[in-house]
Amino acid sequence: MLNPFEGVTLPPDPEELIRRELRRLRDVQGVTVKDREIRRLIHFRDALQTYNRFLNSFPKLDRLHPFYLTSLEITAGSLDKVKRCLAQVRRKVNVASRLLENYVEQIKRSPEARANTLMRTGFGRAASVLRDGRECITWLAEVTRELSKAKSVDPDLPTIIIAGPPNVGKSTLVSKISSAKPRIASFPFTTKEVHVGHMNCGVKIQVLDTPGILDRPDSERNVIERKAVNAIRNLRGIVIFMFDVSNSSLYDAGEQLSIYREVTGMGRPVVTVFNKVDDVNQELFDALAQKLNQERVLKLSAEKGEGMVELKREIFIRLKEVSPDISDLLDC
Ligand code: GDP
Repeated sequence: MLNPFEGVTLPPDPEELIRRELRRLRDVQGVTVKDREIRRLIHFRDALQTYNRFLNSFPKLDRLHPFYLTSLEITAGSLDKVKRCLAQVRRKVNVASRLLENYVEQIKRSPEARANTLMRTGFGRAASVLRDGRECITWLAEVTRELSKAKSVDPDLPTIIIAGPPNVGKSTLVSKISSAKPRIASFPFTTKEVHVGHMNCGVKIQVLDTPGILDRPDSERNVIERKAVNAIRNLRGIVIFMFDVSNSSLYDAGEQLSIYREVTGMGRPVVTVFNKVDDVNQELFDALAQKLNQERVLKLSAEKGEGMVELKREIFIRLKEVSPDISDLLDC
């Protein structure tokens, strides 16, 4: 399944469509004046079909995968507003179309001399109904554009989600184990979007580099963090949780552990990793190791490639828990 928002036909801004139709008026010819005015209104009505194409191509909310439904909610801010706007646009386009058809009928029954006035009135009234829906149309177009830009995440593929606080080395690891080439920088919050890469190991495995999750409640999370939480909660995958045990760590043991506890509480199998062991801060390492003493922890230097073989072995063992169809994975 691909990003369902990529296939949406984007609607034009109603002002633009109205201007275009006004310019076209003089190009429309007819055998008689009445015929010409009728054709003008029909042309406008047909142009409104572009909004129906938009509405029909917009994914049905009750059939959206929870990952994409939550992505829509995060981007739009409210699913209710999306529903209200979709219904409003449908109503406005229907009313405007019916008005135009109604004026066509009036012109048919009227004397020639009235035809142009009726056309103008009908055009003006339909345009004004359409303008009432402008705010919703342009907003829905913006939301759709934003969502269609996001890399295609396939919720049906087995998935590895790399999570952890900002700057722990998530992008570095993703670029080492998958086809994704995220930007790596020595300052936090480089990852603004969920990056998607793949590992081809006989079976296609999706690898997501999530934006850093900070230690704060859901209600205070920003859009970037909520995208990360959405991926963990709603994709069929395992999580590699990365701790930063280095001297350059931006977060102390308590902060990192608190994020870790939250992620482990999301019900996904978690592979726990101490990253940056090439530059270890012993005090931080010991504090974390002591708190996690019952848990299996892998030591890694994503940058130097140390510990990668063990990590991959562990990844495949845990992936089988969520995707039993992954049998004997090939080299990758
Ligand atoms: P992200 O924000 O979690 O995606 O972190 P990045 O992958 O962008 O890495 C943040 C910084 O940590 C960069 O300067 C990386 O070069 C550095 N880094 C990543 N992995 C390691 C590692 O294994 N050892 C050391 N010393 N630095 C690393």
